[in-house]
Amino acid sequence: GHGIAVFTSGGDSQGMNAAVRAVVRMGIYLGCKVYFIKEGYQGMVDGGENIVEANWASVSSIIHRGGTVIGSARCMDFKERAGRLSAAENLVKRGITNLVVIGGDGSLTGANLFRVEWTSLLDELIATKRITAEERDKNKALHIAGMVGSIDNDFCGTDMTIGTDSALHRIIEAIDAIVSTAYSHQRTFIMEVMGRHCGYLAVVAALASEADYVFIPEDPVKIDWKDQLCKKLLQERSAGQRLNIIIVAEGATDREGNPITAEMVKKVVVDELNQDTRITVLGHVQRGGNPSAFDRVLGCRMGAEAVMALMEATDDTEPCVVSLDGNQAVRLPLMECVNRTQAVAKAMAERKFELAVELRGRS
Ligand code: ADP
Repeated sequence: GHGIAVFTSGGDSQGMNAAVRAVVRMGIYLGCKVYFIKEGYQGMVDGGENIVEANWASVSSIIHRGGTVIGSARCMDFKERAGRLSAAENLVKRGITNLVVIGGDGSLTGANLFRVEWTSLLDELIATKRITAEERDKNKALHIAGMVGSIDNDFCGTDMTIGTDSALHRIIEAIDAIVSTAYSHQRTFIMEVMGRHCGYLAVVAALASEADYVFIPEDPVKIDWKDQLCKKLLQERSAGQRLNIIIVAEGATDREGNPITAEMVKKVVVDELNQDTRITVLGHVQRGGNPSAFDRVLGCRMGAEAVMALMEATDDTEPCVVSLDGNQAVRLPLMECVNRTQAVAKAMAERKFELAVELRGRS
C-alpha cells in the first residue's frame, strides 16, 4: 500500500507523541506502511537509520510522555536544494509519497516547498542516475498533511495548537505553588511566561490564577503604566489581599515599543510600594512534563484526521493542515494558514496590534 512518513520538526511541545502515535496506528489500520523520520528534516536529508518502519507496538507507552520521542531539530540542509534532493531520494527509495509534518509555520513552509519542487527534484535525481524512471513513476505525487505543535497557540486557523493546554497546566501549577508561599510572607510575585508574539498563555494563565496584572504583547500598556499598576496593587492589598501576582509575557512592551521586563516591574513595585517582591521566570518548564488529557486527545484526533486526508488525496490535492474548529478536527489549506500566521507576525513586528488580533481570528 501507500508509504506514509511522520516526523516532528522545529520546537517541541507536549502532545506531539500522541499525534505520532495516532498517525502510526491509523496508517497501519488502513493498510499503509508507516515510517518514522527521526530528528526532523535532518533525518530526512541524512536517511539511513533515521528513517525506520514503525509497527503497532513501536508507539506503545509514548502518549503520556512530553516532547517528541522521535526527536526534532532545526535543519539548515533542508533549506538548500541539495538537501531537499537527498531527502527526496531517501523517500523515493522507500516508496514514501505521504508526509505528515508536525511542527510550526517554518516546518510547514518547508514541506510545502518540497511538494512544489517534487517533480523537478525527481527529474534531477533521474538525470544524475540516483533513481530510475520506474521509481519516479511509482512516486509521482507527494501528499502533505500538517499539524501544529506549539505551546504558544500562535497559529492561524486552529482554536488550539498541540501543547498549549499542557503549557497552561505547567504555568498554573507553578503559580499555585508560588501563591501559597506569597500568602505566608505577604509577597508580590512577578511571573514571566513564554509568548514572544502571542499573549495567549499569559492572558489565560492570568484569568485562571486570579492574577492582579498582566502584560502582553498585543495590548501594550500606556507610558504611565507604573501609576496604574501601583494603584491596582494597593487597591487589592487594602481590600485585604495578602499577596499580588503579576504576569509578564516575554514579548510585552509599552506603547512606544520599550520592552516591559520582570526586572522593570519589580523595580517599580519595590521603589514605589516597598513591597517584598520576587521574580520567577518559568522558562522551559512550560514546554516540559506530561501532556494534559486535552493535548493527548487533540494529538490523537489530529493524527487520525491527517492520515484520512492523505488517503483521500488525489494528485492535485493541495497540502492541508489539520486544525481544531470548535470541537471538530477539520482540514484547512496549509499555505493559507501559514501565510496568515506570517502576516500576524509581520503586523506584530510593525506594532499594528489591532490588525494582528483581527488576522489571528479566534485562537
Ligand atoms: P517552526 O517549524 O517551529 O516554525 P523553524 O522555523 O525553525 O521552526 O523551522 C524548522 C525547520 O523547517 C527548519 O530548521 C528548516 O529545516 C525547515 N524550514 C523552515 N523554513 C523553511 C523554508 N522556507 N524552506 C525550507 N525549509 C524550511
